[in-house]
Amino acid sequence: MTRQIGCLLLAAALCALTGCGDAGQATEQETSSASQTATETEELPSSTQQVFAMDTYMTVTAYGDQAEAAVSAAVEEIQRLDALWSVGESDSEISILNDSGSILLSEETAELVERSLTLYQETGGAFDITIYPLMVEWGFTSGEYQVPTQERIDELLELVGSDKLEYDAETRQLTLPEGMAIDLGGIAKGYVSDHIMDVFEEYGVVSGMVSLGGNVQTYHTKTDGSLWRVGIENPDETVEALSGVSYVGILSVGDKAVITSGGYERYFEEDGVTYHHIIDPSTGSSARSGLLSVTIVSEDGTLADGLSTSLFVMGKEKALAFWAEHSDEFDAVLVEEDGAVTITGGLKDCFESDLDYTCVES
Ligand code: AMP
Ligand code: MG
Repeated sequence: MTRQIGCLLLAAALCALTGCGDAGQATEQETSSASQTATETEELPSSTQQVFAMDTYMTVTAYGDQAEAAVSAAVEEIQRLDALWSVGESDSEISILNDSGSILLSEETAELVERSLTLYQETGGAFDITIYPLMVEWGFTSGEYQVPTQERIDELLELVGSDKLEYDAETRQLTLPEGMAIDLGGIAKGYVSDHIMDVFEEYGVVSGMVSLGGNVQTYHTKTDGSLWRVGIENPDETVEALSGVSYVGILSVGDKAVITSGGYERYFEEDGVTYHHIIDPSTGSSARSGLLSVTIVSEDGTLADGLSTSLFVMGKEKALAFWAEHSDEFDAVLVEEDGAVTITGGLKDCFESDLDYTCVES
């Protein structure tokens, strides 16, 4: 591996012209330990609120004359969407669907289901919202973890496959074959952060960001016109090549979602084996693709969330091949089990790291 010094040297000069940001002029700022917060340099009114939803702490921050109203509206929207899609709430739309087997979807749920079905097709089934019965069996929904027998996994795999869903886009009627159930947990947070960008727009927010359990979406630049600096968490400090660093790297971005999936987010151990919450729909078990984490950078938060999960399942080789075909839609940072870090070409001017890394071009 060679350190991509060339990439970094160009960074300051090119950021405003490349995928780093779409708004404002980029200026280099000090590395702020990737705490994902703004440097408050101007007297603009600002507001921040924290809320616990979708199993995680979320922080919404906005700057602008209506910052407080914007953040309150955003928090209300987070809670409304959580209530709509939570599989943990028996009266959510998704729980009602899973219990009854058929439902007329609301417009927003239909939109997210349709995005999920498209991703299922595009990722060759790596992204599949019908893995829910397996999530339950492994105990990831309840915290009562267990390793199912192969026989049980095979039985449940019969209930997995988004191609088995009956969906009529005209009427928005979704019908699940007997025993099947869906879970939007791999994509819902990205939809929520996209939606918050719309709320910010509505309230004339000048600069803002939302952090949903480490997943970040930024609105415009920081108030001083510089790009936001978002850290990618170290997925495993026990890996020699990753030891001693809190962050794999820092991304400088404006108007982008930066969303990470990793096995380290939720897992349990049994007989010395670690099992985590990202399921490979082809095996019914935790995806073992050689990756520790996948970070997706895109203007489209929903896509970024869906793809972070999908590319984690695919593994490096397939993930890079997928990127090569969709490089206009997103970029990625892949961290492998041996600590090797790979970034895709669109990030070469906005990624900084103390680690060695490889930059691939399409
Ligand atoms: P994320 O943190 O975005 O990678 O999402 C992980 C969550 O997505 C899990 O907790 C499950 O709810 C769901 N999930 C797990 N495996 C898959 C998969 N292969 N396709 C779609 N959703 C998944
Ligand atoms: Mg995801």
